[in-house]
Amino acid sequence: MSKKLFLNIIGLALIAMTFTMCKSQSAVAPSTPDEALAELIAGNERYVSEKTIHPRGGMDRVKETAPHQAPFAAVVGCSDSRVPVELLFDQGIGDIFVILTAGNNVNSEMVMGSVDYAIEHLGVKVLLVLGHGSCGGVTGAITEGEHEHGNIGHLLSTIRNDVSEYVGKTDSLEAAIHHHAHVQVERILSYPHVSEKIEKGELLVKQAYYDVNTGKVTIY
Ligand SMILES: [Zn+2]
Repeated sequence: MSKKLFLNIIGLALIAMTFTMCKSQSAVAPSTPDEALAELIAGNERYVSEKTIHPRGGMDRVKETAPHQAPFAAVVGCSDSRVPVELLFDQGIGDIFVILTAGNNVNSEMVMGSVDYAIEHLGVKVLLVLGHGSCGGVTGAITEGEHEHGNIGHLLSTIRNDVSEYVGKTDSLEAAIHHHAHVQVERILSYPHVSEKIEKGELLVKQAYYDVNTGKVTIY
């Protein structure tokens, strides 16, 4: 074999490998709720073990998703700079429909409208309510004493209504965070159109928790 032919073969092999890797970046979206949940779990495992692949984050994906979005998951998370949803699940553009409110509370028509949009119109396969450690929203809600007024006061009282048994028990913050996320899941499940989708096997709604110390997400 001539040196030139050998180099051509190596070149073609490299092009084929690059093509295969690019294809895997825009992998077929999960088609079932179980697959969707597994994809989120796998992405978080890559994140925790520092083996992220940052899939579907390039300009080709920007162009691919420009006409319409078809995310496979929705996450109701907390407005907290330490909980970057796409990063911690190692997902890309158009993969996750992210709804953020301080304290990941869904007790408003605005937020539930967004949840409904994700479920009804976008057809997400899995929805997580993602609480997290050191949550300032839940901390503020269960702290007794002089409370904030105005919009922040309204926000904290909304959360407080869902964790009333923990008010004054700041040493039970972790339990309050879990309970608060659980109440949001129950609230979402109380809507018949949501429970019907679950019964048909078209949707999973799960409570989850992000550990700000380790980066690990636990699904309940
Ligand atoms: Zn929070």
